[in-house]
Amino acid sequence: MKSALVVDDNEVNRILVSRFLSKLGWQVANAEDGDQALAWMADNSADLVLLDISMPTISGDEVCRRARAQRLDKGARLVAYTAHAMPEEREHFLSCGFDAILVKPVSRQAVASLLVDLGLAEGEG
Ligand SMILES: [Mg+2]
Repeated sequence: MKSALVVDDNEVNRILVSRFLSKLGWQVANAEDGDQALAWMADNSADLVLLDISMPTISGDEVCRRARAQRLDKGARLVAYTAHAMPEEREHFLSCGFDAILVKPVSRQAVASLLVDLGLAEGEG
């Protein structure tokens, strides 16, 4: 079973994307902020980490940078999960070490497409 960590300080967003992943057969863990996310990643591993960018204390891009630098990612695909996806922001996210960007608000189809793009799920047809 594939596993994901969903990190967002907004509970509604966390539940929504976690539900999409669960329905696709994924095992899902949650974290509410960057500190929790880094602690979880130190003790566990996942195939996918979805990181909200705007969070209190440590932003998602900083969590990504630290996870890559400290090798907490352990092969996980790191995805920026954000409403901000202007071209220059995309460049910034990719420079932080993100593999992809998932733009809010997300749909079930967007999550499914992301998994296919990352090689984490089979495409249809
Ligand atoms: Mg947030």
